[in-house]
Amino acid sequence: MSARIINGNQIAASIRTELAQEIAQLKSKGVMPGLAAVLVGENPASKIYVQGKVKACETLGLYSEQIALPANITTSQLLKTVQELNARDQIDGILVQLPLPDRINAAELLLAIDPAKDVDGLHPLNAGKLLSGQPGLVPCTPAGIMEILERSGTPIRGARAVVVGRSSLVGKPAALLLLQRNATVTVCHSQTEKLSFVTSEADILVAAIGKPGFIHWDFIKEGATVIDVGINRLTREEDVRAIFHEPAEALDQLAKKGYVLTGDVQPEDAREKAGAFTPVPGGVGPLTIAMLISNTVRAARQRRGIALHSKTAEI
Ligand code: NDP
Repeated sequence: MSARIINGNQIAASIRTELAQEIAQLKSKGVMPGLAAVLVGENPASKIYVQGKVKACETLGLYSEQIALPANITTSQLLKTVQELNARDQIDGILVQLPLPDRINAAELLLAIDPAKDVDGLHPLNAGKLLSGQPGLVPCTPAGIMEILERSGTPIRGARAVVVGRSSLVGKPAALLLLQRNATVTVCHSQTEKLSFVTSEADILVAAIGKPGFIHWDFIKEGATVIDVGINRLTREEDVRAIFHEPAEALDQLAKKGYVLTGDVQPEDAREKAGAFTPVPGGVGPLTIAMLISNTVRAARQRRGIALHSKTAEI
């Protein structure tokens, strides 16, 4: 069996097209949604993520600004920046790129973001709304996972869904969203016993672990839909050889680029055994940015009481 590859780039492109229409409608009402991305320090991966987010805003005609702050900034200085952004009407969405330096009290900071502008959906008020099934802003990656499932025609109602990973950013909200869509959901983590036994019962398997190729043959039910959230950068030949059964292509990429991106799922096993799966790169990743724009547009609308025109799933 050869699994259907779910093209995240294509799904994200459809969402962006829909969002472009919604943004045009908002502009005709004199509203230009705006996003502020706060970047602390010099983490190269964070820089790339923030640049990608700001660029996506620009491409779609949103106002965006990147606020780069030094790594030695204090929590109170950062809180002041957030409060200023809360007060600015031009800014509809505020995201603080994680991870933050250890010295910064991330929980205090997330709590300071106006929940109406919390486009990462990490404020406890938005997390609580998600838990209680009220409309709010939902974390972008789990929202993107739901778009992937729905737009790829994956049956969710009544399906057995297993989410591996329980972070507030991905695993927990993904599980809640699946539950809202009437899947029967199990959440697994590092202390789960007989993990492969649990995951191999999943019709929908979401892997959000942060360990390259962790989910392999024994973990996958034949014909399952496998959503690989992981983004792992392999830079050593031995790591590439350890993950891929046939590593020639990946080794070639390693030689050319200096790294290979791979998910939490062993791709060759998923291709053989799953019914459908999201590749890395080109699966969940593009959706995360599309849903950030979607959340920013939604926040702009909701703050001004403008009705919904988007096709993206309203939570
Ligand atoms: P976290 O490190 O916050 O969470 C990882 C989760 O995996 C934890 O709940 C942990 O369990 C669980 N876990 C770790 N080891 C095991 C194990 N051996 N068996 C079972 N569960 C295990 O990561 P995130 O949720 O933030 O991210 C997960 C992955 O998704 C990463 O690769 C990240 O880069 C990627 N990511 C991708 C995005 C995208 O746009 N595609 C966006 C965000 C993240 P425990 O709680 O017990 O420690």
